Amino acid sequence: SHTAELIAVGTELLLGNIANTDAQMLSQGLSALGINVYYHTVVGDNPERLRAAVETAKTRADIILTTGGLGPTCDDLTKNVLAACFGKKLVFHEPSAQRIEAYFRNLHPDRPMTENNYQQAMLPEGCTVLENDWGTAPGVAFEADGVRVIMLPGPPRECKAMFTHRVVPYLKELSDGVIASRTLKLFGIGESAMEAQLRDKMNAMTNPTLAPYAKEGECELRITAKADTEGAALALIDPVEAELKAHFGPLVYGVDVPNLERVVLDGLKAKGLTLGTAESCTGGLVAKRFTDLPGASAAFRGGMVSYATEVKHTVLGVEQALLDQYGAVSEPVARAMAEGARRVLGCDLAISTTGVAGPDPDERGNPVGLVFIALATPEGTWVRQVHLSMGRQRIRHIAASHGFDLARR
Ligand code: ATP
Ligand code: MG
Repeated sequence: SHTAELIAVGTELLLGNIANTDAQMLSQGLSALGINVYYHTVVGDNPERLRAAVETAKTRADIILTTGGLGPTCDDLTKNVLAACFGKKLVFHEPSAQRIEAYFRNLHPDRPMTENNYQQAMLPEGCTVLENDWGTAPGVAFEADGVRVIMLPGPPRECKAMFTHRVVPYLKELSDGVIASRTLKLFGIGESAMEAQLRDKMNAMTNPTLAPYAKEGECELRITAKADTEGAALALIDPVEAELKAHFGPLVYGVDVPNLERVVLDGLKAKGLTLGTAESCTGGLVAKRFTDLPGASAAFRGGMVSYATEVKHTVLGVEQALLDQYGAVSEPVARAMAEGARRVLGCDLAISTTGVAGPDPDERGNPVGLVFIALATPEGTWVRQVHLSMGRQRIRHIAASHGFDLARR
């Protein structure tokens, strides 16, 4: 398999003015292609240091992908340096010059194009030109000394479009098979626990491979296989997927699905059921995340943010005696809130949340991160109690996720 090294060029990256988001995007994209990324290098707009970085990369990667420094200004030196490193001359590429002219004319009909824009049409001899429909600087790919060199423009929007529409097809053409992947999504297990359970298995596997990720309180497990055809690659994935599903059981909430709320919405739609919310510590986040989904109106009745204790009583009908005895952050109150929401909103299922999002404990001394999440249904009400030791926003996010996790079951 292939090994890639990313070289991001730009002094502003080293100064910390901007984050190297191109590298993140490209790494994700390359690993989805089954290409190993072993090093990220960042180098300033300095020809000697860029040259040294390229020489190093040559010794340890067979794909070198650069971003930035393709522009028309004099600090844009990537093409010059890379061409020199591989003993290539820059030659004028007429079609690129014409594209740049046309792009420029479109953008600034009233301004003449400056001479230095033609610099962008000077490309390494014999290279594959990656046409840039999103900006002026064309991308470049060539193969020399057993290394594939790819140069992309730095602006993230251009870099991403160029990667998706130019580099992926280019690399696929070179690749000797098809790569397919599936992503299992898990909720309710930490990344380190998941990795610990899978470490031996992961190390033993070569095709498919298994890659775990942690994301906003959730985990993803991507299974990637390579074969002659997509069908053959998926056939390699199937048994591994089945095995992982059996191993993790109900912690797996979906495969190739974007998020928990989508799974809930699809489930509700399939069963013709409706959802409502009564939120305290999440402040409407459950409703917000659910209504972020296009098509949520098919299932969502509405929700209320019953933040003050009194509102839990007056609007949701939570009995005052419960509130007095147990306090607002308690199992019985979470239960009564969800049941109240079902009644008031006339929905089939209702999610409620009540907890301490911090930064301080509540007046009863309940610790930050204690949250009760309830789901009321026609068959009964379930309450989950969690202790989330993290910041306010993450507590709220994960509490909302627990609501969806209850509602998908
Ligand atoms: P341009 O034609 O705009 O000059 P370029 O290919 O020469 O493009 P740079 O001049 O290096 O690219 O960067 C242009 C802008 O793109 C930078 O100001 C920065 O905002 C952004 N950028 C560059 N490199 C990266 C990177 N690695 N990650 C995120 N953003 C970047
Ligand atoms: Mg530039």
